[in-house]
Amino acid sequence: MTKKTIKCPYCSEQILRTAKKCKHCGEFIDKDSRVEEVADGVVKTTGSIFWKIFKIIIWINVILFGLIFVILVLQSSFL
Ligand SMILES: [Zn+2]
Repeated sequence: MTKKTIKCPYCSEQILRTAKKCKHCGEFIDKDSRVEEVADGVVKTTGSIFWKIFKIIIWINVILFGLIFVILVLQSSFL
């Protein structure tokens, strides 16, 4: 059985994952401010930005085609 440790967000010492208070610096550890093994991982934001732009383009297309459709229907009903 391996001890699961995390980094203390205040002093960066290894402490137990279940610890509520750091034994090295004496700070209380919040669950939200815990620095886990994320520090070494590269934050992948480029993919989400591309996806957001892609969704915006799709929405613009949907709105444009909707407007063209409405204009065509109005023209055919009035003329
Ligand atoms: Zn600490």
